[in-house]
Amino acid sequence: MAYVINDECISCGACAAECPVSAISEGDGKYEINADLCVECGACAGVCPVGAPNN
Ligand code: SF4
Ligand code: SF4
Repeated sequence: MAYVINDECISCGACAAECPVSAISEGDGKYEINADLCVECGACAGVCPVGAPNN
């Protein structure tokens, strides 16, 4: 199941820079993951300062 970014996101952009498949983009008030692209590598969760990406 694809990772999902919750409302704790502070839009720092760190996850988008790490995603190997460019599945993360800036959304309305927080970053968002395209579930069709996510390969569930966990890199976003590893760099997020607030633990917002989860699966
Ligand atoms: Fe990208 Fe990996 Fe996060 Fe999925 S789990 S959004 S592929 S960094
Ligand atoms: Fe949001 Fe975390 Fe991604 Fe930063 S690293 S944009 S806080 S989900």
